[in-house]
Parts: sequence; C-alpha cells; structure tokens
Amino acid sequence: MKHLERLGSQFSISITPDEEGFIGRECPVAECESYFKLQPGTGLTGKDLQCHCPYCGHEDAPDKFFTQAQIEYAKSIVLSQVTGALIKDLKTLEFNHRPSGGFGIGISMKVTGQPTPVRHYREKQLETEVVCDTCTLRYMIYGVFGFCPDCGTHNSLQILGKNLELVDKMLAVAEAQESAVAQVLIENALEDCVSSFDGFGRETCRVFSSRAATPEKAAEIRFQNIASARQRVREQFGVDFADGLNDSEWALVIRCFQKRHLLAHKMGVVDEEYIQATSDHTAVLGRKSQVNSIEIRALVAALHTLGEHLSASLRCES
Ligand SMILES: [Zn+2]
Ligand SMILES: [Zn+2]
Repeated sequence: MKHLERLGSQFSISITPDEEGFIGRECPVAECESYFKLQPGTGLTGKDLQCHCPYCGHEDAPDKFFTQAQIEYAKSIVLSQVTGALIKDLKTLEFNHRPSGGFGIGISMKVTGQPTPVRHYREKQLETEVVCDTCTLRYMIYGVFGFCPDCGTHNSLQILGKNLELVDKMLAVAEAQESAVAQVLIENALEDCVSSFDGFGRETCRVFSSRAATPEKAAEIRFQNIASARQRVREQFGVDFADGLNDSEWALVIRCFQKRHLLAHKMGVVDEEYIQATSDHTAVLGRKSQVNSIEIRALVAALHTLGEHLSASLRCES
C-alpha cells in the first residue's frame, strides 16, 4: 500500500482565484449563507484576522467562509488522490496463473478503474464591486450595500459619496448643453441626489436600528421627505443629522427635496404644499418651479455633510 501511505493523512488544497483575481466566500450562518467574493492581498494584513459577512455582519474565522462548491471541490480532490493511489496499489497485486495440466483452473486478477473525477467549479458573477475606503479591500457583493469582509466597515457612506460624485459629473455635462437639454439633465441630477440620499439614509438606519428607541420604526425611516426624516432620526437615535448645516443651507435642502417631489408627482408645477413647506419667494402657484445647476451643486455639498454626520453619529451611538 505504498502509494496510499505516501499520501499521508493531511491534505492541503489551494483555492485559486477566478480570472479577475477574486475568491468566492459564503456566510456560515444558516439563515444567511450568502455569497460574496474578495480579492486576496488587497485588504488588511496580519494574523488572526476575522472575516465579516457583507450582508448580515456575522464575524468568524476566515476558514468558516468556504463556499459549498469549494468544499465539494476539495473533497473531490482528496477522493481522487485516494482512489488513484488505491488503484495503483491494487495494480501491484495483479497476478495471472495460467491453467496447468488437463484439468487445471487458471486464475487471475486484473485491476481496472479510474480515480474519481475532480468536481471543478466556477465563481459566480456578482453585482457591485467595492474598494473599501477604510482598509482598501476589493470585494464584490449582490446589491449595493454591505459590510467590508475585512474591516467590517459598512459602505453606505462610501456609496453615497460615489453617487454624489456622479451627480457632479452629470451637472458638468448639463452646464455645457443648450437650455432645454440642460434642464432635463439638471432635473435628473436632482432626482439622483434624492434617491441616493434616501437609499443611504434607509440603509444606515436599518444597519444601526438595534441602537434605536424602536428598531422596527428606525428601519422604516424614509428620506425622500427630509424634514420628517430629520424628526424621526431625532426621535429614534437622539441625533440631529442636520446640525452640521446652517439655517440657509438646511432651507436649501428642504427646497430642493420639495422641488423633486413636484417633479416626480406634479410635473414640476408649484402647489400650495410646496409654498407652505419651503417659503420659496420666487415660486408662483401654478407655474413650473425652476431648478438650476448652482443650487443642485449646493445640495450635493449639503448632502455630503448630512451623510457624514448621520453616519458618524449612528456609528458611535451605542
Ligand atoms: Zn451572513
Ligand atoms: Zn474594509
């Protein structure tokens, strides 16, 4: 049995990265078992690092995060090596005794067979690639938001920053266009500001909802109505995310969010509610509200401030 003995009792199987350099990982928590990928060598370095599930935040040793496909692959390699060695060993026992004499019986043993095949796998395609702002790990997830698998930082603020950067670029394009086209692009930029901030705000409140007065309510705060979101965040977390802005900056945020509400629901035409909510002196009831790139740029700056403040204060609220 020398082939089999030579294999020893321990196997070390390396999991190779896919063509983009990523290795698949799977959360070990039964209710989660979600799939993500990361690029080895890009994040934290050191001993005893923990791995974080981007989706549920579960923290565990990295060797708990092998995917089912990787485990099947590793098992099949071991099985293939063992069966291969076994076949070779059995082959050394082959014999063939020819029949002798008139009534002799011939007897032989011939070993045939192949080692069991290796079960290869392919890593899956994912939706969003993130380079963590905090530890520089490259990772890929389904959806958009998640915790960094290396340092555990949630990426909601980073995603908001990226989206607002895109809005800035969109405004630069708009400013170079004739006015009718520019107007559409500026209105789209406003829509993107509001939806990015809404996505960011909801996700941030959901992730930190365990620290809220009523977690279920905190997880349901919507940010399209920014004034009521400010109020709800105050009630739930005891935090005023707008205290980094002065009164006129906050008024600008309210006005822009209200304009977006008009665009989305009233074809941009000013109604009583808008005038009440904004005290916008330039607005005329029944006329289209005007949106220009200067105020959207100011909105982008204000949203950066609001986002940083909300993120920082919920992270350290505990
Ligand atoms: Zn998980
Ligand atoms: Zn990180």
